[in-house]
Amino acid sequence: MTDIPIQVSKFTRIQSPSSINTHRQCARKYYYSYIKKLQSLPSIHLIRGKIVHSALEDFFKFDVSKLTPESFEIESKMIISNFFKTHWENNKNALSSLNLADDELKHYHDESLMMLQNFHHTFMEKLKLQSMSLAEAFKKLTPKTEKHYQSKTHGVRGFIDAIHEIENKVILMDYKTSKKDIITEDYKLQLAIYALLYQETHNILPDEVGINFLKFNEQTIKVDQELLEFAKKEVALIHEKTTSTDMKDYPKTITPLCKWHSGQCDYYNTCIKE
Ligand code: SF4
Repeated sequence: MTDIPIQVSKFTRIQSPSSINTHRQCARKYYYSYIKKLQSLPSIHLIRGKIVHSALEDFFKFDVSKLTPESFEIESKMIISNFFKTHWENNKNALSSLNLADDELKHYHDESLMMLQNFHHTFMEKLKLQSMSLAEAFKKLTPKTEKHYQSKTHGVRGFIDAIHEIENKVILMDYKTSKKDIITEDYKLQLAIYALLYQETHNILPDEVGINFLKFNEQTIKVDQELLEFAKKEVALIHEKTTSTDMKDYPKTITPLCKWHSGQCDYYNTCIKE
């Protein structure tokens, strides 16, 4: 999810994994997004990400005690699929404003639904490993979702998609609809910041942080002091580098991410003129 840095007294602005990774990609892009506050362009990836996250959130809030034990699996699969369909429908205007070809839109619809069904299948397998009814296991394994954290010490904030606090073990997860299942350096930083935020708020070091690549699988990394130090260092660095509001302090990083065959950086049209 994209977080917007906000103004506070101790820091020039509160940062987020998105703002830090934007700066790491291109300082000028950070300037356009977080200082000049230019509008970003709507994209299918952002919209369908939001839809999938909303469907997952609704799924975990659903009262599964209403389901019949014999058909729990099939009924719960229908429920997550229906939540997806509702959110897809609710976003119809935003989706059609993208002017995608019908078959392209269908591809994203079907792929997103498949991701949620994939998630459901894996979750069901976990429920079956519990020595209790599926409804009880569902309640036990349901994470806290979409929790907002903010660090006053480090001036950073973030939304954690799923917090699993089960049997004295804490695992923080982020859901991604990415094309690849690789924990990149940017993702690692995002997870490190989540670990830092959780640790500072609860005074408990999470055991693991990870990404559920909904198209593929889950991957986690162990949380250790080194990971927290990585987060602290990057957060301190971004505060240091973003005190100025002068565009010339935000150089362009020209890469294939500026413009590619089917798209361009949100600020490309402004950037080429300056
Ligand atoms: S077009 Fe390229 S150089 Fe310009 S802001 Fe975007 S990423 Fe940076």
